[in-house]
Amino acid sequence: MAPVALAPSPITPTVDFDRDGVQHGFLRLPYSRDDSAWGSVMIPLTVVRNGSGPTALLTGANHGDEYEGAVALFDLAQTLTADRVAGRVIIVPAMNYPAFQAGTRSSPIDKGNLNRSFPGRPDGTVTQKIADYFTRDLLPLADLVMDIHSGGRTLDFVPFAAAHILPDKDQEARCFAAVAAFAAPFSMRMLEIDAVGMYDTAAEELGKTFVTTELGGGGTGRAETIAIAKRGVRNVLRHAGILTDGQAAEGQAEASRWLDMPSGDCFRFAEDSGLIEACVDLGQPVRAGDLLARIHPIGRTGLAPAEYRAALDGILAARHFPGLVKAGDCIAVVGTVES
Ligand SMILES: [Zn+2]
Repeated sequence: MAPVALAPSPITPTVDFDRDGVQHGFLRLPYSRDDSAWGSVMIPLTVVRNGSGPTALLTGANHGDEYEGAVALFDLAQTLTADRVAGRVIIVPAMNYPAFQAGTRSSPIDKGNLNRSFPGRPDGTVTQKIADYFTRDLLPLADLVMDIHSGGRTLDFVPFAAAHILPDKDQEARCFAAVAAFAAPFSMRMLEIDAVGMYDTAAEELGKTFVTTELGGGGTGRAETIAIAKRGVRNVLRHAGILTDGQAAEGQAEASRWLDMPSGDCFRFAEDSGLIEACVDLGQPVRAGDLLARIHPIGRTGLAPAEYRAALDGILAARHFPGLVKAGDCIAVVGTVES
């Protein structure tokens, strides 16, 4: 039986992806609602093209409360000129724009977590429609895909660029070469808790060179992590031969430290709710059995805290950010250090 053809995306770009030069515009997604009967979600984007050559697709704020990518990409969109490009750069600083406007991880319109909504649906929710447009219209244009995440309101990370172990070893090598080019303080072989529905997976299944990051968190951007994002984007574009500004790679004086997430033992999940006492800070070394955090019950005094210990030797690569935790929250991630 032939597969059922999907309807075209309802999203209309206001730019021509095949035109040379710099174009600032929008992905316009019709969204009829109480305050705007024939209204739209207007997702800002910039396309910079100069002749034929590879295409980079750069995205931030896939989760709306992650800011390093949004800052780096709004800045790049405003400053990149066509004479420094060979090929094409498509820049979407705030991919889940309704979530970004609300400062929340998921969309206030439909509660959609964009990075769990792929491949999406052209006839689905607003978030599913955004995912579908990236899957069927934008990803096929791209050779190199970079999606810049950080921890959002509830997690904080040591700054790293990352790629995944992939079945296609040539593709995997391309991805890790781009991670190395990013030159974040850390580079990660990343294990996902739940890869179903991720943009990463959609891009990787199409054979793209895919780089992601986690660059801090806590629902804000810091000067240090924003600088890492800005230079990392430029470094990867130079590595791909798309940014031809004649500049050398930046920030590679100190070599990036490679981390691995060899198994689910990297993650520690709370089995208790309460007040978290951090016992290790981000980037500090830990040994298997070391105390990572304690969770104090807050209903009454006089109760012993629950203890959470590392299962592996490594460094603390991520931690829960808010001071109160709930059972089920990810409270710590230990990354193992590669020699
Ligand atoms: Zn994210």
